Amino acid sequence: CEIEVSKDEDVKRMIAQHPCYSKEAQHKFGRIHLAVAPKCNIQCNYCDRKFDCVNESRPGVTSEVLSPQAALEKTKQVLEAYPFIKVVGVAGPGDPLANDETFEALELIKKEFPDVTLCLSTNGLILPERLPDLLRVGVTTLTVTMNAIDPEIEAQLIGHISYKGKIYRGLEAAEIMVKNQLEGIKMAVEAGLVVKINTVLVPGINDEHIVELAQKINELGVFIMNVMPLITQAKFADRTAPTPAECKAIQDRCAPYVQQMRHCRQCRSDAYGLIGQDMSQMSEERRNVIKL
Ligand code: SF4
Ligand code: SF4
Repeated sequence: CEIEVSKDEDVKRMIAQHPCYSKEAQHKFGRIHLAVAPKCNIQCNYCDRKFDCVNESRPGVTSEVLSPQAALEKTKQVLEAYPFIKVVGVAGPGDPLANDETFEALELIKKEFPDVTLCLSTNGLILPERLPDLLRVGVTTLTVTMNAIDPEIEAQLIGHISYKGKIYRGLEAAEIMVKNQLEGIKMAVEAGLVVKINTVLVPGINDEHIVELAQKINELGVFIMNVMPLITQAKFADRTAPTPAECKAIQDRCAPYVQQMRHCRQCRSDAYGLIGQDMSQMSEERRNVIKL
């Protein structure tokens, strides 16, 4: 019917203008990340909580946390100056779903800018219960970091989770994590969100398992997968990071099942502009050149 056709067109346009979902879009369209979400509800073994969420961002920096109102103000300034930015997202510095401020900020922004694409990244622990809020505020592109579907493997990647007021560790934590991620992804796809999976490649733990994960997320209707190299820090400081060739080999093995994103730059949780050209890190002079 006509409504469905126009919905398909909307999705196509959204993907074509999202720099992370479309390789072609990365040079033309930008995104802004709003750092409104400081708290996290899990502990990944490769995460040092002094920095931004490594599931979407690179470490070494901590983004300044903004209030929802300040996030709206920043969005106004940035979108006015740089109209090629079409995507507004929350990617940390903790887990966006674990912070009510995420939803307050996105709601304010959607009211003011109904045409922007709202995007969010999460570890997925509370995705099933938070999905209605995502839909209510108008999020349409969603990233879930998922590193394993086998709880035995997931248990080697996380220290603990904090879930419904209780701390879980080991296999018990991993079982809850994987179950909720899979359920949340399935629900999100069914609700019409365009879903990306970020997977951190940790040699010696999940390298031989990632293809199985790719097969599973293909069944769930995930749009694209982003295999990212481990950044060695925290509990995993002594491990060896995968080489670009090792990453590529895994991406090639996953590609028959699900489209691969190969241009991720592991941005900061307050980055804006084109990916790979983070304007939050540029001098004002350089930013003004881009504006012209
Ligand atoms: Fe760190 Fe992100 Fe993992 Fe939370 S979800 S522990 S912020 S990497
Ligand atoms: Fe896109 Fe990767 Fe940057 Fe996220 S971290 S905005 S997926 S390029």
